[in-house]
Amino acid sequence: MLCNICPHNCNVDRITQFGVCQAPADFQIAHMQLHQWEEPCISGKNGSGTIFFSHCNLKCEYCQNYEISQNGLGKKVNTNEFYELCLKLRNQGAHNINLVTPTPYSELLIKLLPEIKKRLNLPIIWNSNGYEKIEILKQFNGLVDVYLPDFKYANNELALKYSRTANYAPTALTAIEEMVAQQPDIEIDEQGLIKKGVIIRHLVLPGQIEDSKKVLRIIKDNFQDKVWVSIMAQYCPAYQALQYPEINRILNLDEYREIKDYFLNLNFKGGFVQDIDSTSNKYTPIWQLDSLN
Ligand code: SF4
Repeated sequence: MLCNICPHNCNVDRITQFGVCQAPADFQIAHMQLHQWEEPCISGKNGSGTIFFSHCNLKCEYCQNYEISQNGLGKKVNTNEFYELCLKLRNQGAHNINLVTPTPYSELLIKLLPEIKKRLNLPIIWNSNGYEKIEILKQFNGLVDVYLPDFKYANNELALKYSRTANYAPTALTAIEEMVAQQPDIEIDEQGLIKKGVIIRHLVLPGQIEDSKKVLRIIKDNFQDKVWVSIMAQYCPAYQALQYPEINRILNLDEYREIKDYFLNLNFKGGFVQDIDSTSNKYTPIWQLDSLN
């Protein structure tokens, strides 16, 4: 079958050809772990049962996870093995199953998630970059409990420059509209863990504070208090960032304070602002293929 899963519409047979994401037809997974560094309502005490898929349909020049997103580190697993990985995370005490960059594997997940949900009885988190198609997302209605999309840019030119992707902002906005239509209310249990809802993440890039403000304004205007927002201040130059002097540095304190104040003044009902001290690669998981065994 030809792949048109995401807005790139590559129309390639992933058994014999690569599209923009370079993902194969089968699952390819780089890493799994109980992840402690997600938002507190996701990681909780035990950790989020995180599965990092290989490859990505965005080509971010600064990606901290470039070894798996761009270089394709990982190993192919069949659907039984994938189910076993989910089970292993649940048996380790995971509060949820957190699918990181799942979009290129949407068709496989649409088939598999009903069984995984039934047998594991854990919230399923869709942790994506926001560059997705509504008609594909609609098929996850009832299968995904928590959407955790990025909203990376308000300015399409920045998306083209730094992520080599056209028309990002309106595409992400309509994708998130569909996510909010499916999960319009945030539900938190007595342990403080999220069970349902949408949390939108925004990574603040150095020198791009005005664009970050526009992103927050768009979120507020379109979703008001239906979503929570997570401001990520952890940007640390990686991968090809060296070639872009303006983003080849961490955020400075003035930028951090400016975006934090702007966010707080918008009075979202809930959300998170990452501490600027987290600007370090110590939060980047060390990719371990043996975690899959
Ligand atoms: S999922 Fe990959 S191959 Fe399919 S349309 Fe998107 S970028 Fe192209």
